[in-house]
Amino acid sequence: MKQLYPAVVDQQSFSRPLLDWFADHARDLPWRRTYDPYQVWISEVMLQQTQMDRAVGYFQRWTSKFPDVHALAAASEDTVLAAWEGLGYYTRARNLLRAARFVVDNLSGILPRDHATWLSLPGVGPYTAAAVCAIAYNQPHAVVDANVSRVLARVLDLDTPVKERAAASFIAKQALTLTPPGQARNFSQALMELGALVCLPRRPRCSSCPLHDVCEARRLDIVLERPVPAKAVTFIPIDVATGVLMARGLIYIQKRPATGVWAGLWEFPGGTIEGTETPEQTLVREYLEETGFVINNLRKLMVVRHGYTKYRVALHCYCCRLTDDRPQPPPILTAAQEYRWVRPETLDQFAFPAGHRKLIDLTLTTREMPCRG
Ligand code: SF4
Repeated sequence: MKQLYPAVVDQQSFSRPLLDWFADHARDLPWRRTYDPYQVWISEVMLQQTQMDRAVGYFQRWTSKFPDVHALAAASEDTVLAAWEGLGYYTRARNLLRAARFVVDNLSGILPRDHATWLSLPGVGPYTAAAVCAIAYNQPHAVVDANVSRVLARVLDLDTPVKERAAASFIAKQALTLTPPGQARNFSQALMELGALVCLPRRPRCSSCPLHDVCEARRLDIVLERPVPAKAVTFIPIDVATGVLMARGLIYIQKRPATGVWAGLWEFPGGTIEGTETPEQTLVREYLEETGFVINNLRKLMVVRHGYTKYRVALHCYCCRLTDDRPQPPPILTAAQEYRWVRPETLDQFAFPAGHRKLIDLTLTTREMPCRG
């Protein structure tokens, strides 16, 4: 790995044009109006894995529902998961709730001011701790997300994938070294903002970039070769069947266990299609195994496709009936902690995994709901 800095750029040449640019171009984001630590914390957790435009809407709904750490700590897990639904990676929401309760129970409801205490909160890793301390409290910490990594890999012409340990540590050190005294809040945000608005992955706008004159990759005309790509991820295809069971106008849903994949979310029963099974056979088997229900009258609704970590899931969706047409019998639960029979129009009150939510949005909330027939 090349160690170009500090031969390439000094702190002033880097930070001054960047901060001037940020003063003129910073987006008006709700958490930037007060830099309240609770709001900065929530925004940083939401922005991990979520586009800014989507995150802003979620942030506004979240903070009107849970305006401070006390309101969050007092909320039920179901309410928190429902407010998070659609953002994915639900562990983040559960950890926010656990951390809020820890702060109320152990820190008198006052969010910490120091990096070490932030790191001790559930779900808070080095990135979040650094971001809150830098942005809310203006403390000097290296705040390195994917945007910052890309900008620095280009400016410093880093010839190693940025996720490799040595490269990540090099970037973090440079981010800190380049931070001007007393300017951590604006500097860290400016670097992230530049990566989001100017130093774009495929079409960087070098001609309007404040770092144009100090950028080594631009000088060498190798901008699109930086950052060096990491090894390609191989996605695993997976076929799953799920069925919406309706009896006398109500739909059966069940709540997943408190641990494991999609913990605490609601779902329609179903599972992975095994061996030579057809989706219909899978569904009949899964219903029997998970609930004790014997189903028939399977009718295919659609195939929903979505990505989940390294998986590419094809979700084969059906509606179905009980063979004996009993009115909402109790299940024998083997794969869930709770169940309900609910009216279709109340499904929005429950948090579902992304594939099931797509199914609900596309079929179950329309007036001509196919499962009614
Ligand atoms: S000059 Fe181009 S490559 Fe360099 S930081 Fe600016 S936008 Fe990115």
